Amino acid sequence: MGVPPISCETVNRANRDLMKPRVYNKDVQTEKSSPIIFTDNLTKVYTAGRIKVTAVRRVSLAVEPGEFVAIVGPSGSGKSTLFYLLGGLTQATEGRVVIDGVDFATLSDAERTRLRKHRIGFVFQKFNLLPTLSAMGNIEIAYEVSGRMVNGKKEPLDRAYLNHLSELLAIQGRLDHRPSELSGGEQQRVAIARALITRPAIVLADEPTGNLDTKSSDAVLHMLLRSNRELGQTTLMITHNPEAASIASRILYMRDGELVREEKGTRSGISLPVSGAAPAAV
Ligand code: ADP
Repeated sequence: MGVPPISCETVNRANRDLMKPRVYNKDVQTEKSSPIIFTDNLTKVYTAGRIKVTAVRRVSLAVEPGEFVAIVGPSGSGKSTLFYLLGGLTQATEGRVVIDGVDFATLSDAERTRLRKHRIGFVFQKFNLLPTLSAMGNIEIAYEVSGRMVNGKKEPLDRAYLNHLSELLAIQGRLDHRPSELSGGEQQRVAIARALITRPAIVLADEPTGNLDTKSSDAVLHMLLRSNRELGQTTLMITHNPEAASIASRILYMRDGELVREEKGTRSGISLPVSGAAPAAV
């Protein structure tokens, strides 16, 4: 699948778009017909002395706006490296990554950081919540750090949106608690709220259930699916767990740095409890 040619104007337009005020789920689905994540022959070679390891090999991938895609593979298959490449956290050796019409290679470090901060929300296996802050404090500081601006002015945190997110993720009653007072599942749901508070177009999740028991895992997966459906962002989840991956609409299998197979998630069509209902497990 092709993408529009990348020009300075495209980059500038995308950068201007970053400044526009957002509504819940209107502007995350830009240019429906073109992929929001696109890679072309993406390759990453690590060099340690004379040893070269090709962690990602000629990966060509297109993800449409609003899709929920899982990338599954055994340890060492290159999933994390692909995640870092898609998130602009490391640079490709060859090939390109185009996010929302913007080729990472055309951006300066500062522009890439800005694109990442405004368009991508990250969720990691380790929740990485600040232990001295409440759940609310963790979400607020993430928003502060993102430095959202409108017409040159700092855009204040939208409390109504925060309430909406808390309800969506069933953490309304937990926001005053510190991470140590929350279960693993609750901490991860706070981490998801922290990722979503800037209204990213894309959520990249790296083994989001890796530290959770089966029940909490399922609750977190349902929350990711719910936010994908209700907020309309594009979700890409890396996992070694086929059961977790089955919630995605599309599963891509990775082996030795390559995407080798694709199938539909068997649980992707499940109906979810209404927004605000507590998940089966915390
Ligand atoms: P996965 O996430 O599927 O476990 P990774 O992307 O972490 O896979 O690793 C893919 C391959 O790249 C492995 O062989 C790993 O040893 C190697 N690798 C990952 N990071 C580095 C690095 N920083 N330097 C050298 N080799 C690396």
